[in-house]
Amino acid sequence: MGGAVTSQSTPAGPPLVRAVNAIKEFGSTRVLDGIDLEVHRGEVVCLLGPSGSGKTTFLRLINQMERLTGGRIWVDGELLGVEERGGRLHVRKDRDIARQRARIGMVFQRFNLFPHMTALENVVEAPVHVKRMNPAEARRQGLRLLELVGLAERADYYPSQLSGGQQQRVAIARALAMEPELMLFDEPTSALDPELVGEVLTVMRDLADSGMTMIVVTHEMSFAREVADRVVFMDAGVVVEEGDPEQVLRSPREPRTRAFLDRVR
Ligand code: ADP
Repeated sequence: MGGAVTSQSTPAGPPLVRAVNAIKEFGSTRVLDGIDLEVHRGEVVCLLGPSGSGKTTFLRLINQMERLTGGRIWVDGELLGVEERGGRLHVRKDRDIARQRARIGMVFQRFNLFPHMTALENVVEAPVHVKRMNPAEARRQGLRLLELVGLAERADYYPSQLSGGQQQRVAIARALAMEPELMLFDEPTSALDPELVGEVLTVMRDLADSGMTMIVVTHEMSFAREVADRVVFMDAGVVVEEGDPEQVLRSPREPRTRAFLDRVR
């Protein structure tokens, strides 16, 4: 496991993620209308809000699966997508964007494992083919990560032989195999049968305890309350309210937050 997972956070340092007036439009539809957000190293931030409020789009911008229409996002002090040279902005080269993306792990609602590969093969694929890690070393690391998510004994199973919760844990191990400094989770438990949700949340909680920086889109309010350092409530492409989970979830200031929480509770 890389240093990012085990190192302790220094909340006073510069933010790992900084979004300033982030805007995203699809055609003439403005989906994100000026998001300002900072996430510090070691912090766990839960993004809450109704469907369609732009939470997924914001994660996809951070991971550069979408390109900003306006505003800026920095990860670890580096501008995403563009770089400043000679006082002007230049679009980054694909290789540069790939390098930036490799520092970020993302776990989706659907597990997206390669069906023709075993759990272990799924985990070692990117380290070997993208990072050019030595295959034997990648295998050792992969087994360690599968152990971390409680699946060491399922290393040679194919996704179809695993439950949804187990597949999602493999997906987490696969994301960690690239030794990311930031993990993004997009409703990682919402496609799971209710009895499988807990095992995935437990792995995420352990990861948070290990010091990983995480941005988690979730409707699991108990997870947000217990694990998040901060919750951010979004609606219609803006941040409506953010703060301490206990305060925001128990006594939200904004009527829109209150209305949403009344609906999901
Ligand atoms: P959330 O994650 O909060 O449910 P999303 O970020 O998925 O919200 O979506 C925000 C809005 O952006 C929705 O209205 C959605 O239909 C729209 N949207 C998302 N992706 C695209 C796209 N590729 N093209 C057009 N509209 C999109």
